[in-house]
Amino acid sequence: MDGGKVNLLRDLEVLMEVNPNQQQGGPQAQGSVARGRGPAPGQSRRAMAAAAAAGRPSLRDPDLYAALMEECVKEESTPKGREYVPPALVTNYLIRNDVRPLKKRSTKFPKAQYYCRLCDYHCDTLTICISHIKDERHGRLARMQEIETTLYHLPKPSRQHLDYLEGLLQRTQAEEGLSVADVAEREATADAVGVLLAPALPEGSKVRLYGSCMTGFGLKSSALNLDLQIPENSPPHLALIAASDFVAGNPKFR
Ligand SMILES: [Zn+2]
Repeated sequence: MDGGKVNLLRDLEVLMEVNPNQQQGGPQAQGSVARGRGPAPGQSRRAMAAAAAAGRPSLRDPDLYAALMEECVKEESTPKGREYVPPALVTNYLIRNDVRPLKKRSTKFPKAQYYCRLCDYHCDTLTICISHIKDERHGRLARMQEIETTLYHLPKPSRQHLDYLEGLLQRTQAEEGLSVADVAEREATADAVGVLLAPALPEGSKVRLYGSCMTGFGLKSSALNLDLQIPENSPPHLALIAASDFVAGNPKFR
């Protein structure tokens, strides 16, 4: 498995842990908060995809960081009664991080001037927006959206993809798959174990293959799985204890 797939799986595992109703701490508590349940109503997948595809500007860019900090100061020092209008640099940064300046004030959150579409979260000031965008939960939801976007835009497999996959599976089967002789050898092992266990088990018990050895999907490296079948009227736990004790005490199983 290559590194990219490992990372994708790791990301998916992380995202599986995301609880949309998880409470947030930190600076967002200063904003006007509507706890989110995922994307806001009416937010199309296409719009989300477009935002994700455009990439998210990072605060690691010192020029961007300095400019945003300057705008935070300007916003905070805007006199009462006058409206701070964010420049394009700010709106671009916010929009590419799924936060938009509100055209209309919310009746529920009248102080809020910005809204995170990803988290359904209202922010009063630019400072709170920046803090929200840096928040772990927002970051997780953004990564989840990026993965969704990637998966959504994956092209369907072409004939060449399918042919290659078919060839790969056939080569793997030929090189690593269990041959008829391998299966026969494993069946013989199951029979031998059955013979060894017979004195300790109820009459009519049988040991047989199960799992990938039985279905034929096993590889040469696959473990040998054995199934213990006992007569219908025998208590299973007693048979299993007897088998376990016998195996533990028999040098052939060491
Ligand atoms: Zn958010």
